[in-house]
Amino acid sequence: MSPSSSFHGRGRPFIHLIDCPGACGSFVMKHVSSTEDHPGWVYYRCPGHGNGCNFWHWEREYVAILVKKKFLTGANVVDAIGWSEDTREELERRNEQRRARAGFIRGPCSEERMNASLLQVGRQIVLLLKIVVGVGVLLCMMCLMLVMKLWYCND
Ligand SMILES: [Zn+2]
Repeated sequence: MSPSSSFHGRGRPFIHLIDCPGACGSFVMKHVSSTEDHPGWVYYRCPGHGNGCNFWHWEREYVAILVKKKFLTGANVVDAIGWSEDTREELERRNEQRRARAGFIRGPCSEERMNASLLQVGRQIVLLLKIVVGVGVLLCMMCLMLVMKLWYCND
């Protein structure tokens, strides 16, 4: 299964490759990032980027540019924006999972869990104390009744 097929029911919309808005005379190229921070993220870049042109955008921003420049119209706008936002959310979710696995956000999470378990232990101790007190009171009353019974019998 390709990663894009799980993002959206209707699948990947057609994303145009436009002439660079910087008037470089060349088409924008589609690339897939392989950096540690953004693995699999799609971006669009002018071949002249870094050479006097600064056209470089992640897919979602590129779709927004297409919409703004009216390369996408009508229902295609809704489809492409919805799809690119779903895709971005999915990619960001994966990034978060990866960071969580790497232990970057381990601190607050485990602390919260520890507090919760401490609270649970506290509740169990309170429950145990209540049982002990209850049993103690019951024993005292039985002793008292026994003493009173003996008292009356001796009478
Ligand atoms: Zn350019």
